[in-house]
Amino acid sequence: MARKPFIAGNWKMYKTTNEAVELAGSLVKEIGKFVHADIALCPTYTVLNDVYKTIENSVITLGAQNVYWESEGAYTGEISPIMVKDTGAEYVIIGHSERRKYFSETDSTVNKKVKAVLAIGLTPIICIGETLEEREQNKTMDVIKTQLEGGLEGFAALDVLNSVIAYEPIWAIGTGKTATPEQAEEVHAFIRTWLEEKYTSSTSDQIRILYGGSVKPENIRELMQKENIDGALVGGASLKKDSFVSIVKNAVSDTIKT
Ligand code: PEP
Repeated sequence: MARKPFIAGNWKMYKTTNEAVELAGSLVKEIGKFVHADIALCPTYTVLNDVYKTIENSVITLGAQNVYWESEGAYTGEISPIMVKDTGAEYVIIGHSERRKYFSETDSTVNKKVKAVLAIGLTPIICIGETLEEREQNKTMDVIKTQLEGGLEGFAALDVLNSVIAYEPIWAIGTGKTATPEQAEEVHAFIRTWLEEKYTSSTSDQIRILYGGSVKPENIRELMQKENIDGALVGGASLKKDSFVSIVKNAVSDTIKT
């Protein structure tokens, strides 16, 4: 089945308000009417609403990079799903490997966050992926299976349908080292088969599985040629207008004339 390509930019902890608004504004000029792929920008919390105001009359959508699972309360420093939604965001990245590594997130906290986000009508972008050591020990599929089982525990097919999965091999994030299209496709196909076995084939057919890890204008086209790769979660290359615009356009260059 044809799944609409989806390119999301993870701006990580970069860009002050002026810088974020400037980048978002320049993206609106270049790809604000680009309908061949879904596009989301995921800036840091403090600029979410400023970026939203910049992109709201374009096709570009907004996502946050994290969320807490409670809806309100005495949780100093945390941001709830309703607060994220209030900024204009539609997506939330959950369980990024940097959150797992530096902020002790686990499959169990990912599960709580996904549940809270779905309950409020936001779309989680659930990140999973193996370390280099795990890959070298041929444990990739076991790690992916454990992360899927833990992260999606207790969810019905409809919940999963309202989610996006991002396969991000940790050894490829911010390293300049991309998984080959074949390496990525092998894991994407594994994820889709797991979803089919656990839920239904219509669920696994419709859900979008993004690849993330040193995606650049030069490698996105080849990745997108693979049957089970539906888009990308882009870190470093989403911080510059030209590279992000090229990634969005190159992602669909085999299927449309831009
Ligand atoms: C990411 O932050 O999700 C990511 C994939 O980063 P990069 O593209 O820089 O590897």
